[in-house]
Parts: sequence; C-alpha cells; structure tokens
Amino acid sequence: MGDTPVARIVTCPQCGKRNRVKSAAAGYPHCQNCGAPLPWVVDVDDAGFREVVLQASLPALVDFWAPWCGPCRVVSPIVERLAGTLAGKMKVAKLNTDASPATANQYGIRGIPTLVLLQDGKEIDRITGAMPESALRPWLEQRVQKASSRAASESITGERR
Ligand SMILES: [Zn+2]
Repeated sequence: MGDTPVARIVTCPQCGKRNRVKSAAAGYPHCQNCGAPLPWVVDVDDAGFREVVLQASLPALVDFWAPWCGPCRVVSPIVERLAGTLAGKMKVAKLNTDASPATANQYGIRGIPTLVLLQDGKEIDRITGAMPESALRPWLEQRVQKASSRAASESITGERR
C-alpha cells in the first residue's frame, strides 16, 4: 500500500544540476550528473511516516513544525543547511503537526519546533525549542557520525573502532 513517494527538485551543490529526489528510496540520493550526494529534505505526514522515516536507510531527523510557529521558521533553514553538510549521511523529514497530529502525539510532542533524530526506527535523541546553528550543528554531527560509523561497522567487514 501507500502512495508513490513525492519527489522534490534538489539543485546539486557541486554542479548545479537539478535532480528529482524521492522522499523514500534505498540508499541515498546522488546527483545524476556528477554523483555527489544530495541534501535529502522531504515532507512527511502520518501516512508516509513509516516508509519515509521508520524504514529510512539513513538516520532521519524529523522536524516537527507548524505554519503558525515563529521559532519553527528560524529552525527550518538551519536544518536545511545541515542536510546539505550531512548529505549522504542523514535525511531530514519535515512533519507539519497540524496536518499530522497522530505522529506528533505518538512522539509526545508538546512544544514545537521539536527535532527528533531516529535511526532504524528508534529514537536516538531529541531537541525541543529553537537553537542557534552553532549549537545544533555539533549536536547533530556528533550523533549522525556515531550512527553512521555503527552502520558501517555492521555492513562492512573490517576493523571496529
Ligand atoms: Zn552534481
């Protein structure tokens, strides 16, 4: 079941080519022209949450937001920039809590913006409230690096750290 994942047009940060990027896919999106990993920012709702977030191939940062929320508009561009920095290592899923209250409820979201980082369907950590990029970036990078090194040690034979 389920609808075809929605595609967004993403401009490649390396070469400028415009690529269609689906909200759910195996692996992660690459530029069709130069092969660079693309920032993966998608919209998600209650119906698509399982496929887009819980079954994601990468750690997924869910941005719980709503149109009336001022601080959400501050956090949103920061999160999109971080998706660019962490292209190929993380995806960002934006969830409008007004449109998808069931998921917000399930995660006990009481204030927005709330950012919840999940890997393999499990919550790793969360932040509630607007934070400056200088604080959000290290918070996220640290957790995503840890998540991806764990994934690599499971899928590739080699030394474990
Ligand atoms: Zn490119």
